Amino acid sequence: MNAPNPLSETKPIAAPGMMALFLDVDGTLLEFSDTPDQVDVPKSLVQSLFAARTVLGGAIALISGRALADLDRLFQPLHLPSAGLHGFEVRHSDGEHRRHDADAAAISHERDKLHQMFEAVPGVLIEDKGPCVAIHFRRAPALSGQVTEAVAAALARLGPEFEMLEGDMVRELRPAGINKGHAIRQLMERPPFAGRTPVFIGDDVTDEDGFAAVNELSGISVIVGDRRPTQAQARLDNVAAVRRWLDHVISTADPTLSPSDDRETMQA
Ligand SMILES: [Mg+2]
Repeated sequence: MNAPNPLSETKPIAAPGMMALFLDVDGTLLEFSDTPDQVDVPKSLVQSLFAARTVLGGAIALISGRALADLDRLFQPLHLPSAGLHGFEVRHSDGEHRRHDADAAAISHERDKLHQMFEAVPGVLIEDKGPCVAIHFRRAPALSGQVTEAVAAALARLGPEFEMLEGDMVRELRPAGINKGHAIRQLMERPPFAGRTPVFIGDDVTDEDGFAAVNELSGISVIVGDRRPTQAQARLDNVAAVRRWLDHVISTADPTLSPSDDRETMQA
């Protein structure tokens, strides 16, 4: 696995008319916050995503661990084609919404147990996402081992129909076999994505399935930050670099959509 090369912040990697752009959200478009609810979504970013949708002919999608409803809330009034819950739910460009069937009841007993173990622990946040449950410990990183062990024990009881996703300061228990790569492939089968070159930008271990998928589809995989090893071919340094790159794609394709001088200052 070669180290990813720097992706020039100012040079589009595929002509906008040929690009299908897939974007992770937390750690890629948005800076992390202590809890998922506290993220800052600058108005200028929402404006950029609207403009990107225009110049890309609609071929832009969010690929996130968050639920679709949460993505819509964060980026309102914009409702992009999206994959939520790491691909467990997918909304296509025509608005069709597909949610994988899974037995949400199967996980409920283990979810209750995890709540009992961690809900009173300072710095730990439990996020219920229907068939998935995520335990965040960004404010208590020393608990990484304890959380991982608890989720692994739950997984052992649930069996191979489930898996543990080990993300950045989060462990998630979820139905197996559905991931971001799967979601990108589903979106790539339909207009306006089909036939274009997929570009996926993400930061976390859970984005590696997406990198592998776009590599196989002869696309371009871009990691944000310095997590290694990775299957990504290219890299951008941080969230601010992703936003600058996105704005450059937009202004190159249509100078009338260039970021104006009175935009909010982007927080690095
Ligand atoms: Mg991320």
